[in-house]
Amino acid sequence: MPKKPKYPFAVLEFGKTREVAPDIFWLRMPLPFALNHINLWLLKDRDGWTLVDTGFNTNETRDFWTSYIEELLDGKEIKRIIVTHFHPDHVSLAGWLLKRFEASIWMTYSEWMQAQLNRFGGPTADIDARMIFYRSHGMTQNSVNGYRAKRPDFAKIITPLPHQFVRIMDGDVIKINGDDWKVITGAGHSPEHAALWCEERNLLISGDQVLPRISTNVSVQSNEPDADPLGLYLSSLSKFKKVQEDALVLPSHDRPFYGLHDRIESLKEHHEDRLKAAYQACAQPTTGTEMIPTIFNRELDEHQLGFALGEALAHANRLFFEGRLSKKFCDDGCIRYSQL
Ligand SMILES: [Zn+2]
Repeated sequence: MPKKPKYPFAVLEFGKTREVAPDIFWLRMPLPFALNHINLWLLKDRDGWTLVDTGFNTNETRDFWTSYIEELLDGKEIKRIIVTHFHPDHVSLAGWLLKRFEASIWMTYSEWMQAQLNRFGGPTADIDARMIFYRSHGMTQNSVNGYRAKRPDFAKIITPLPHQFVRIMDGDVIKINGDDWKVITGAGHSPEHAALWCEERNLLISGDQVLPRISTNVSVQSNEPDADPLGLYLSSLSKFKKVQEDALVLPSHDRPFYGLHDRIESLKEHHEDRLKAAYQACAQPTTGTEMIPTIFNRELDEHQLGFALGEALAHANRLFFEGRLSKKFCDDGCIRYSQL
């Protein structure tokens, strides 16, 4: 039975900061969702600061940033912004910060592209296509309308990104303050998520790929309906096995923790259990929406319902790829999964 993570630090208040390792600072910013916060990491660098992730574009977060800039940066500039992935809580203030600092933005190619596509309302941000997709998986029109009303508009939230960026790739080594940070990419949560591992200092900035308490959202998206994001996520998780067991993990949500390998095991067990539940739910032909209560046994608001359906479909598609479920369009226009 995997052990629970150990948390060496107390919860940090919004707008406060804590040095979690020499010259590495934890910043905690609010989010306007059920998941109410994100962690950012500010690393002292030779000629200024390197920042990892930027926060969600709200007045509240920008106000916190203004006081961080006055009090924390010690008169030095942010020289580089590394963004783990394109989700708006991570990327949306990058453009705003870059107006203030002459910094470069470092991202993987897919995440940079996806952020740009969303900003310009490309297929990944096509809300109408997403609504049709949800309806085809059995979501009621009422729920679809409720989700639509709550979903943030990426084009408005993501501040304009520069047209130039620095591409980072799996295995690249980024020098920060003389330390080597190796890029570990992963998929399933987003297309090419970048985590950063400093082996000498035994630190892992895990982004959203490994979180200590909640499981990372792994969803089938409307622009890639036949994808296997859970398969991608599980194989990405295995890439973290090379990180030392006693590394301090700095995740994007919740608190820094110890116990990476046990956490990876319990995430794998969690998905195994959900796969079993999804399979059992499909004894009769079943839509993704009908599968949700077997996978999430808690109340979900309309914003969470979109994540929940995406996640139910991720489990159903994994079972489809394992040859255990079939998937077919029915006369009522809905897609249903059945045991084979
Ligand atoms: Zn994310």
